[in-house]
Amino acid sequence: MISVTERTFDVVVIGGGHAGCEAAAAAARMGAETALCTLDPQSIGVMSCNPAIGGLGKGHLVREIDALDGLMGRIADRAGIQFRVLNRRKGPAVQGPRAQADRTLYREAMQLEFASTEGLSIISGEVVDLLVDRAGRVAGVELASGERVSTRAVVLTTGTFLGARIHLGLESWSAGRQGERAAEKLASRLRALGLRLGRLKTGTPPRLDGRTIDWSGVDMQPGDTDPIPFSTLTAFIDTPQIACGIVRTCEKTHEVLRENLDKSAMYSGRIGSRGPRYCPSVEDKVTRFADKESHQIFLEPEGLGSDLIYPNGLSNSLPKDVQTAMVRSIPGLERAVIRQAGYAIEYDYIDPRELDSTLGCRKLEGLFCAGQINGTTGYEEAGAQGVVAGLNAARWASGGSDGVRFGRDTSYIGVMIDDLVTRGVTEPYRMFTSRAEYRLRLRADNADQRLTDWAAAFGLIGHTRMASHQLKMDALGRAREALMQRSATPHELQLAGLKAKQDGQRRSAFDLLGISDVGLEGVVRVWPDLNTYPAWALKQVALDAHYATYVDRQEAEVQTLRQEENVRLPSSLRVSGMPGLSNELSEKIAAAAPKTVGELRRIEGMTPSAVALILSHVHKARRAA
Ligand code: FAD
Repeated sequence: MISVTERTFDVVVIGGGHAGCEAAAAAARMGAETALCTLDPQSIGVMSCNPAIGGLGKGHLVREIDALDGLMGRIADRAGIQFRVLNRRKGPAVQGPRAQADRTLYREAMQLEFASTEGLSIISGEVVDLLVDRAGRVAGVELASGERVSTRAVVLTTGTFLGARIHLGLESWSAGRQGERAAEKLASRLRALGLRLGRLKTGTPPRLDGRTIDWSGVDMQPGDTDPIPFSTLTAFIDTPQIACGIVRTCEKTHEVLRENLDKSAMYSGRIGSRGPRYCPSVEDKVTRFADKESHQIFLEPEGLGSDLIYPNGLSNSLPKDVQTAMVRSIPGLERAVIRQAGYAIEYDYIDPRELDSTLGCRKLEGLFCAGQINGTTGYEEAGAQGVVAGLNAARWASGGSDGVRFGRDTSYIGVMIDDLVTRGVTEPYRMFTSRAEYRLRLRADNADQRLTDWAAAFGLIGHTRMASHQLKMDALGRAREALMQRSATPHELQLAGLKAKQDGQRRSAFDLLGISDVGLEGVVRVWPDLNTYPAWALKQVALDAHYATYVDRQEAEVQTLRQEENVRLPSSLRVSGMPGLSNELSEKIAAAAPKTVGELRRIEGMTPSAVALILSHVHKARRAA
C-alpha cells in the first residue's frame, strides 16, 4: 500500500468489489497508471452474498470477461469447490457454467493477483468527493483524510455502499454491508453534480453453523465429475471438490413466515425500493407462490475450512428470532444455529441512462461507472461492466481516443450495457440468456473466438493470454481445414453406414457435422485419421458447424424484427394470459401500452422471444380479421 499526498494517476478506480477489481486490472493491462481506492484493502475481492460464480447467463459473462483477459474466471478456477454446468441436458447455447467458491480462497487469490499486477497501486480510504476542473471534466478525487489524488479518469464502482441502510426486522442502520460503513458523502456529491439517482434493495440469507445441521437427513448433490474451468488459461481444477445439500421448506415454515410478515422490513412497508425479482426473498416466495407446498433450499458450504453454510433460498429481512424459528422448521435444520442473521440492504444507484455505451457519464466527462451502482445485481454483471469501464477510462486518460462499444450481436456484455443505457432499470438487472436476440451465436464455449482477437487490437490482452489464444486458434484452424478438405459422395457415406440424402452431391466432413444424425462420431467413423487432431478442437469445430445453420436463420429473424420496428400495434392488443408470456411481462406491457413494435421492444425486461411471440399473435389476428 502507498501513502498518497497529491499524487497523479491516469485512472482512479473507486471500490474494490467485482466491478472495481476488473476495472483496475483492465486499465492497468491497457498500460494506464492506475490506483484503486477502497474503504478497506483487506476486503478487495469479497463476495458480499452467495459464494458462487456463474450460472445461467452469468456463466456466459464470466467466459466473456475471461476472453477479455479479465480476472473473474481464473480466480473462480482457483477458488471453486464445486463446478457444475447448469442446463446440461439443453443445448450449449443456454448451458451455464457455475462454480461454488471458497469465499476465503477467492478473496486471497484476487488480492494475490493484485500484488503482482504492474502499474496498479492500492489506496486505503473513503472517497468523499469528485474533483471537477473548470472545463467540467473529472480532475481527481478527495479522500476522507483530506488527501487529493489527481487523475483524468475515475471509475466509480461503489456497489451497495452509496447512502446504504441495512434492515433487519424493524431495526435499520447505516451500513454498506454487514459490519462495513456506508458511503454517505459521495452519494450527496453525485446528487449535487446533477446525476439522477434512485433506490434499490437486495437481501442475503442467514449463515448457519454446519456442525448443528443434521446431515443424515439431507440430500446431497455432488458437482460434475469432470469440472470444466471457466478460464481458457486454466489447464485443470486442482482444488478439492465438495457436495452441497438440499433441504425443503414445509407448511410449518410457511406458517412462521405468514405469521410474521408484518415484522419483515420488506413487507412492513419500511422499504419502498424494488428488489431483484429473479432472486426473491423467502417472504416473497411464500406470498407470490402461495400455492407451492415447499421450496428447495441449497446448503452451500462457504469454504473448505469453514463450518459456515449459506442456505441459498432463505434470503430475508425478518428479526433474528423469527429467522431462527423459520430455519428450525425445516427438516434437517431443527437444531441449526444461526451464526449471522440475514438482512436486506437499500442503496442508491445511478440511473444507467446517465451513461453512454462506453459506460462513460454523459454529464461529466472522465467519469465512468460500473457494477451494482448502475442498477445491476451480481458479481458477473459487475465484473463485466468493470472491464468495459476500465478499458474506456484508460483510453480516455491516454488522450481521449474513441470509446470501445460492445455490440449486442457479439457479446452478452453488449446486450447488458445496451439494455441498461437505453431502457434504464426499475429493479436490479441480472443477465439471462433470453435477453439476447443472438443467443445461438453468443455461446459460453465460443467467447474467446468472438472477443479475444477483437480486444487484442486495442491492447487489452496480455502476452500470456495472447500466446495461448494463438496456439488454440491455430489448432482450431487446422482441425477446421481438415474437416473442410475431406468429402464424400452420398454413396460413400451410405457404405460407411451413415444416412445421407441421395442427391449425388459431395458433402464435406464439416457440412456433415451440422447434420445431427451424423455428428462428430459419424464423421470420425468415415475418416478415422481425423483422430490425429486434438479431441477438444474437433469437438469445438463440431459445435460451430452444428450452430452455423441455426445462426443464419436467427440472423434473418432478427433482421425481420428490426424492419418491423415502426409497425403499429393494434389498440385492441391484449396480452394477459397469452400462452408462453410471463405474468411479469404481460403486466409491464399492459402498463406501458406500447403503440409500435419499437416501443414494445424497449420495455424494460422485454425479451426478443417475447416480441416475436406477440408479433406472431398480432399477424395471426390480422390474417383472421
Ligand atoms: P461491491 O462488491 O459492493 O463493492 C463495492 C466496493 O466499493 C467495496 O470494496 C467498498 O469498500 C467500496 N466503496 C464503496 N464506497 C466507497 C467509497 N466512497 N470510497 C472507497 N471505496 C468505496 N447479488 C446477486 O446476484 N444475488 C443476490 O442475491 C445478492 N444479494 C446481495 C445481498 C447483499 C446484502 C449484498 C450486499 C449484495 C448482494 N448481491 C447479490 C450483490 C452482489 O454482492 C453485488 O452485485 C456485487 O458485489 C456488486 O459488485 P460491485 O463491484 O458493484 O460492488
